[in-house]
Amino acid sequence: MKRILVTGGAGFIGSHLCRRLLHEGNKVICLDNMFTGTYENISELDRDPNFEYVHADVIHPIQLEVDRIYNLACPASPVHYQYDPIMTTKTSFMGALNVLELAKKCNARVLQASTSEIYGDPLMHPQSESYRGNVNTIGPRACYDEGKRVAETLFFDFKRRRHVDIRVIRIFNTYGPNMLENDGRVVSNFIVQALHNRDITIYGDGSQTRSFCYVEDTVSGMIATMEKDGFTGPVNIGNPCEMTILELAKLIIRKTESESKLIYRELPVDDPIKRKPDISLAKRELGWEPQIGIDEGLDATIEYFRSKY
Ligand code: NAD
Ligand code: UDP
Repeated sequence: MKRILVTGGAGFIGSHLCRRLLHEGNKVICLDNMFTGTYENISELDRDPNFEYVHADVIHPIQLEVDRIYNLACPASPVHYQYDPIMTTKTSFMGALNVLELAKKCNARVLQASTSEIYGDPLMHPQSESYRGNVNTIGPRACYDEGKRVAETLFFDFKRRRHVDIRVIRIFNTYGPNMLENDGRVVSNFIVQALHNRDITIYGDGSQTRSFCYVEDTVSGMIATMEKDGFTGPVNIGNPCEMTILELAKLIIRKTESESKLIYRELPVDDPIKRKPDISLAKRELGWEPQIGIDEGLDATIEYFRSKY
């Protein structure tokens, strides 16, 4: 039985990761400040004696004894990370520093939940790990993008200088149950709007693309990366099935049999035009690739929101 710390464990991806790690027979400590996490996401897990919830902020040093650390603490939706951008950069940098110091002290292995956002508005398509990105350092997304970039830097410097056993994964758009109703990200927005027959808000003309990965696949990729000996990454974890935002809206309207109409809103500043992961490294090194297609994944997510709201 390993003692595993999941920072941001009460959030969307974190809650699924905690559940999987618990079911695999580990002791799981979920550390969260509940900025975008909810107790509801972990209430069922909290009944298990091998699960512990610690209310804390990763900007402060962490005093625990653990074997593995997954660092997910950071708001991920543009709406939430732009709410207090200074806090976002601080969370990303200080959180990375504090989990790395803890990993050094405990001789633990530590994984950073990095992001496709480090590629910015990419000039290479699809994005492979060797691409260095096209990020606006001073725009409204920079607090998140640059915070995540410097966290990667810190991880690799702790590996080189202090011999910490690190892992870095770059997660592409992930969706599924446990997203917040007011999360602001596209899949949850469209499903909630469609279920209430409200207008579906397309930002820009909807021709921008994303590639959506179901959360259970993302979690499998995270654990595969953590447990692969001698492999640090960075590695892309995502589903290469690319679609336009307009296609996604139409698919969700059809699946929910909604009467919603499409309305068009201004495209947010620096919104990436295209995004699709090249996952050949993950396939080769981890034997990992997504198993759940967009149809199956959306059905499960729609079911979740239908039962909840
Ligand atoms: P989320 O917002 O649902 O979860 C983030 C969790 O971190 C929340 O529970 C929040 O309360 C917690 N948190 C935030 N600031 C904190 C702090 N200072 N101290 C302690 N806890 C804090 O987001 P998510 O989608 O579950 O994303 C999890 C991680 O994966 C994030 O680091 C995100 O950057 C990364 N990621 C997610 C996606 C995606 O599509 N969901 C894509 C790329 C990267
Ligand atoms: N988007 C949209 N309507 C919404 C929410 C998002 O058209 O109600 C668009 C957004 O502009 C972006 C894409 O959907 O082009 C994905 O947005 P999200 O916030 O989910 O993630 P990210 O931009 O970080 O990939």
